[in-house]
Amino acid sequence: MIRITDILDKIYEYSPDADLDIIDRAYIYSARVHEGQVRLSGEPYLSHPLEVASILADMRLDVESIAAALLHDVIEDTPATKEDIAQMFGPGVAHIVEGVTKLSALPFSTKIAQQAESLRKMILAMADDIRVILIKLADRVHNMRTLKYHRKPEKQAAIAQETLDIFAPIAARLGIFWMKHELEEIAFYYTLREEYERIDAMVNRARHEKEEYIKEVSTRLHYKMEEMELPCDIKGRYKQHYSIYQKMISQDLEFEEIYDVVAFRIILDTVPQCYGAMGGIHSMWKPIYNKIKDYIGNPKPNMYQSIHTTVIGPRGERVEIQI
Ligand code: MN
Repeated sequence: MIRITDILDKIYEYSPDADLDIIDRAYIYSARVHEGQVRLSGEPYLSHPLEVASILADMRLDVESIAAALLHDVIEDTPATKEDIAQMFGPGVAHIVEGVTKLSALPFSTKIAQQAESLRKMILAMADDIRVILIKLADRVHNMRTLKYHRKPEKQAAIAQETLDIFAPIAARLGIFWMKHELEEIAFYYTLREEYERIDAMVNRARHEKEEYIKEVSTRLHYKMEEMELPCDIKGRYKQHYSIYQKMISQDLEFEEIYDVVAFRIILDTVPQCYGAMGGIHSMWKPIYNKIKDYIGNPKPNMYQSIHTTVIGPRGERVEIQI
């Protein structure tokens, strides 16, 4: 179980002047009111708010958010009231905790896509403070990580479906892609287990075969960038199971037909360097017409910026590269 000192250390690292006292007090209070409560995992309930607070500390949120994360379930699950929280931790923290509590009362479970869309809108509108949403998302991440402890498969599937319909899209809207991906991967497993396992087996086989290929492409990219004096970081990564599944469904493809099971990512320091890198890659490998997307010139609505291109790589295979 994560300890409060680990969380305090994290916050101190990105915010040395932060008032850590409020976090300490929120921790002690939360421990007291949740005392005796147990998670389905058998762990003390307190492990849950601690994990949620830890996720938010990794995202470098402010102390009010972390304190509110430690207290996020106390209004719902203990005798504590909003007034108690306001008195002890100030109106800011109380307002956030109340916001998270209100969101829990929404009727999330829905099978209709249109309702999912309106629910997502309602959630975003209800939270006048973005920190409420961030806590709710971190709460869902930890609940998904511990979904295996639920005894009822129907309940697991329902929670996972709601995660796919509501929470993963909100994380994507906010540009928090690690969260979107993690939520989708776990939810995929609990909603469509057979498909998940089939893709998992194929990805593992491909991983074996593609190791050499990834090394070759990365090395050639490294040489090219060095030659052009563009300092960068290059990563070859496997597509998420869920993205592969979606592509197979939406384009009616077999696993073997998905060329970009591996995608490459080049990270540079400046915008001109990104365009320079694209030029270098296109002079080495022929780009595929219509596959160049310039999200630096045209950022996505969530401010995402990068250049995507697909080229014919060293083995005559398509290679997807994000710059
Ligand atoms: Mn919770």
